Amino acid sequence: MQTHEISKRFLDHFKAAGHTLVPSASLILDDPNLLFVNAGMVQFKPYFLGEEPPPYPRATSVQKCVRTGDIDEVGKTTRHNTFFQMAGNFSFGDYFKAGAIEHAWQLVTGSQADGGYGFDPDRIWVTVYRTDDEAIDLWRKISGLPDERIQRRGGKDNYWDMGVPGPGGPCSEIYYDRGEAFGRPGGPVADEDRYLEIWNLVFMQDERGELSPKEDHPPIGTLPAKNIDTGMGVERVAFLLQDVANVYETDLVRPVISKAEEMSGRRYGADDVDDVRFRVIADHARSGVMLIGDGVTPGNEARGYVLRRLLRRIVRSVRLLGVNEPVLPEFAAVVRDTMGPSYPDLVSDFARIESVVRAEEETFLATLTSGSRIFDLAATETKRSGGAVLPGDKAFQLHDTYGFPIDLTLEMAAEQGLTVDEEGFRRLMTEQRQRSKEDAAARKVGHGDGGAYRSILDTHGVTDFLGYRDLNTEAT
Ligand code: ATP
Ligand code: MG
Ligand code: MG
Ligand code: MG
Repeated sequence: MQTHEISKRFLDHFKAAGHTLVPSASLILDDPNLLFVNAGMVQFKPYFLGEEPPPYPRATSVQKCVRTGDIDEVGKTTRHNTFFQMAGNFSFGDYFKAGAIEHAWQLVTGSQADGGYGFDPDRIWVTVYRTDDEAIDLWRKISGLPDERIQRRGGKDNYWDMGVPGPGGPCSEIYYDRGEAFGRPGGPVADEDRYLEIWNLVFMQDERGELSPKEDHPPIGTLPAKNIDTGMGVERVAFLLQDVANVYETDLVRPVISKAEEMSGRRYGADDVDDVRFRVIADHARSGVMLIGDGVTPGNEARGYVLRRLLRRIVRSVRLLGVNEPVLPEFAAVVRDTMGPSYPDLVSDFARIESVVRAEEETFLATLTSGSRIFDLAATETKRSGGAVLPGDKAFQLHDTYGFPIDLTLEMAAEQGLTVDEEGFRRLMTEQRQRSKEDAAARKVGHGDGGAYRSILDTHGVTDFLGYRDLNTEAT
């Protein structure tokens, strides 16, 4: 079943059940806590928080999501994209646990002939929050799952809140057992590679207080109107229904791998190290294009830096596959062709998208070779002197003069068995920022951009990519 059909079935199911179809929001929403939209619920936050009355009691959407926090998993696990589509159904004070579980069970196990996904019920496992007996009873009644396939789990995985006072509640997650060839038995609690998480149901019922992150403190009350927020990973369902090995080989991602095979003359599946590169290229090409489509341009701060990091990682990965020509415009065209049918703006806006990737690639290529030479010298010197840590000033120089994002340097160092003095690097970055602030003040141009990310930058550093992880707390 094609990815597009998976999304369509989801929306059709929930439209038929009285949900209003709401289009995906942009990846960029004005939310000071998020760099990018990372879950379907983000655009509905005002309704969940009671800041605005919901215009409908039930809604459904397929939301574009970017999770930069998953970047290190990309290509290595079977299941993490930086860009993916989250299908969701939402109830604002309308149906609650029973309705959410019934719908999910019907869609997941309903036959394909009847509009469902047709998963074998004998392979489904679910998790519930450790004290949520109500959800356990409902799962038993609605699905008939045996007790051993309903697992209790703690707050880290199965309790949701926004990290601030407001709504929170237990979750229940649906997993598919890929079989014993893929890992240990014992359910998702034992092995999340073998048991693939496909859908998270959040039961928003609690009111969290100031001091009540997650489950450590009891909620201060019960919400007057209970809500449902769910998120199903469309790419994950595609991975299973297309009978491929991971989310990168599905119909909307794999074509970039094929393009990279064609360019490099190397074959995907022939070498484990190359395979990770192929998957990184395919994943990042898609997220890069989707971000540019929503108005992000490469830069040295916040969102632009994330995009730069994704694009530059493609360029370097493709070089490691032996290709020395510019590649980004061609990859972007493949993404346009695969994603265009669902996101027509990518087609109409392609000239702009292409010029953005072309310019970024040119800029990076101009310094990649000399930067790599500096890196190699520094790595050799470090090893020769018996060290294992690349000095922070080298990482800074690579960043400042050659445009190497810090995590590119980290990745290159790791390939040589080295680490990087990140603290030293950050110190130099802070000093530089301080200097440019003073310069700006001296020039009396300190009107600032006034953007919410200014304070984030001040806290985390202009190019501290890892720091953004904290901001990208996953919403569903
Ligand atoms: P995982 O534990 O596998 O990282 P998660 O628990 O972080 O997933 P949720 O926050 O519950 O994911 O998001 C809801 C659903 O979105 C997941 O059940 C999954 O199907 C999908 N999803 C989450 N992260 C990704 C990703 N990086 N790539 C593709 N799909 C994802
Ligand atoms: Mg995750
Ligand atoms: Mg999970
Ligand atoms: Mg989850």
